[in-house]
Amino acid sequence: MELKGQIALVTGASRGIGAATVAALAAAGADVAINYQSSREAAQALAASLSGSGVRLLPVQADVADAGQVSAMVEAVEAELGKTTILVNNAGITRDTLLARMSPEDFDAVIATSLRGAFLLSRAVARGMMKARGGAIINVSSVIGRRGNAGQANYAAAKAGLIGLTKSLARELGPRGVRVNAVAPGYVETDMTAALPEAMKEQIVGRTPLARLAAPEEIASVIAFLASPAAGYITGAVIPVDGGLGI
Ligand code: NAP
Repeated sequence: MELKGQIALVTGASRGIGAATVAALAAAGADVAINYQSSREAAQALAASLSGSGVRLLPVQADVADAGQVSAMVEAVEAELGKTTILVNNAGITRDTLLARMSPEDFDAVIATSLRGAFLLSRAVARGMMKARGGAIINVSSVIGRRGNAGQANYAAAKAGLIGLTKSLARELGPRGVRVNAVAPGYVETDMTAALPEAMKEQIVGRTPLARLAAPEEIASVIAFLASPAAGYITGAVIPVDGGLGI
């Protein structure tokens, strides 16, 4: 129970990678706040499914792109569980289309959820972490943020932005004992990729040395590692978890 006594807040935790991360952190002994935007029932069901793990689980609604909602959520988590010691900025969306067809709204929505959300959450918890002289922030970037992708200019910009945010905050908060890292997953079996055409999935698998998509648990285990004392000397890192796709 490497994370016993830790208080984690995972954004976008009702499904997919976020939900798997909640399970991994809870299994390691952390109390976990389960953020969602609209999937209230899924967040509550996740909390119920892990209720035997002996940790406290708190579903909390907020749009991570909204500064007021983020402040209110962090206050509610603090009041119920205590100061956040682990933050996982996982919430993200796609609005894929080629540049010529991409509306300013498509661009802004993707940046707001992934990048502005991570900024708002980090700002809301950093003071407490610095005061405590400890804490871990993990940002969920993507192989697309490292390599770019046709049809995903908004998503790639948001995920590349997260890498810049990660490295800047690692420099800024490191002297106060706060570690900031990112994971860069390849393609993962979640609702986000379920909509991809079969032919595209086959193409992706064909380009991936491990020749398959990832399970959400395979991303979550790396996030839990980065949150743990075992990663105590790692900060500013972007760990590819992509089956070799980004080589
Ligand atoms: P997913 O299954 O589509 O789930 C998205 C999660 O984000 C949901 O919990 C959703 O909440 C939440 N969310 C969306 N907008 C939000 C907002 N404004 N405020 C709060 N929560 C919000 O996604 P996923 O595939 O697990 O992806 C999770 C993260 O990994 C994303 O950042 C994604 O970009 C990144 N990633 C995914 C892949 C992949 O192949 N799947 C690869 C690389 C990186 P509701 O359920 O309430 O809507």
